[in-house]
Amino acid sequence: MAKIQAPVQKNQLIDVSFEDLTHDGHAVAKVEGYPLFVAGALPGEKGSIQVTKINKGYGFGRLIELYESSPQRIDIPSSELHKYGGTQLSHISYEGQLQFKEKQVREVLARIGKLEDVNVHPILGMKEPWHYRNKAQVPVGEKAGRLIAGFFKPRSHEIVDTNESVIQLPEINEAVQAVKEICGRLGVKAYDEVAHKGVLRHIMARCGKATGELMVVLITRTADLPHSRKLIEEITRRLPQVKSIIHNVNPQRTNVIMGEQTNVLWGSDVIYDYIGDVKFAISAKSFYQVNPVQTKVLYDQALEYAGLTGNETVIDAYCGIGTISLFLAQKAKHVFGVEIVPEAIEDARRNASLNGLDNVEFAAGKAEEVITDWYKQGNKADVLVVDPPRKGCDEALLQTVIDMKPEKVVYVSCNPATLARDLRFLEDGGYQTMEVQPVDMFPQTTHVEAIVLLQRQ
Ligand code: SAH
Repeated sequence: MAKIQAPVQKNQLIDVSFEDLTHDGHAVAKVEGYPLFVAGALPGEKGSIQVTKINKGYGFGRLIELYESSPQRIDIPSSELHKYGGTQLSHISYEGQLQFKEKQVREVLARIGKLEDVNVHPILGMKEPWHYRNKAQVPVGEKAGRLIAGFFKPRSHEIVDTNESVIQLPEINEAVQAVKEICGRLGVKAYDEVAHKGVLRHIMARCGKATGELMVVLITRTADLPHSRKLIEEITRRLPQVKSIIHNVNPQRTNVIMGEQTNVLWGSDVIYDYIGDVKFAISAKSFYQVNPVQTKVLYDQALEYAGLTGNETVIDAYCGIGTISLFLAQKAKHVFGVEIVPEAIEDARRNASLNGLDNVEFAAGKAEEVITDWYKQGNKADVLVVDPPRKGCDEALLQTVIDMKPEKVVYVSCNPATLARDLRFLEDGGYQTMEVQPVDMFPQTTHVEAIVLLQRQ
């Protein structure tokens, strides 16, 4: 292998100035033009780093000491919580985080989407940007014969044993802690991913913030869950808000958390929550937004952009449990929701009848296939909403949109880079990006959400 040319060497200690912040929250320090990415530092700061990795064209470093700090820096406890809890931005003031995210949306839309003059509104942030997450799924392991659970260290499979998180709801932290203790005490064996042996892989807890209902999911390698009767007894006693205890079996060697088989161990197969006035049943395997306060802000914006008068046919692609679909159904003539996870579609149908909405219809399948077939059968929509996962929309779906010519497209995105790519495709196919509204769904983390209105030209 050819030796990599770089002006610094691995393990070298150097003094640097930090210039920029990447989309994943690393500060950038340049040494003779060679960029080094450093977690925990901020633009405008000066300090010493140790070089940890040298790649072709860029490297990584670890912050050793700060000499000059940014006015946007805030004091946080130097605990593992902030280091590994997925809160890459918690050392930045919330104002600073919001600026960072808004700037990222503008820059990415300009760079990747070639949308320089698009109207990006100021980001909508939270009043209380802590303890908002309604869900945790923590990996389980063993250390010195003891059951542990918490976070993976970045780029590793070493588990940090902690029950706390500064972004999870206190109910969720408490639930994870209780289940971990109970499983440990009853001697449930942790899964060992190297040997592919043992039992308990993950503990998942989810709560309906508006109802207080709690779901606990135990994900095991084995079809058998030892001590299940005792587990149920202790979990329900210790966590009286529990309405549902689920056992999911995942026998595969995989990083995917849940397996195919899901059994109700105790209680209901779902918990309930409200967003605004709409009630939702949520099952273990369905996607459900993790920040209920900001979800309301996001869906209200979707409703406003859809501009419904009561006569429209609406498609909600990537609909999950039908959350956006039902929000829109209150104001539309007819809504058609499409989602790939069959369990989510079952929830969606249940949710429609739960809310007495009979002008919605749901189909399980790939959005790019189902909607394309639907269009080929001669159907059309006036408004199309898409809310895809991070990889964005399939090009076949975007082509169908262009062919179908709905008046409006509302694009909800959790990844500005794929959003920008897809907006460019739609612009080239006859749509104009009218407005972009970033919404902070994930304070303290680098995740950026935005909602966009496109209009047919
Ligand atoms: N709109 C929903 C869900 C958004 S998350 C909400 O706000 O709650 C994205 C959803 O897309 C997930 O539920 C995921 O299962 C689904 N999905 C992923 N790929 C898909 C595809 N090709 N076709 C349809 N749905 C897909």
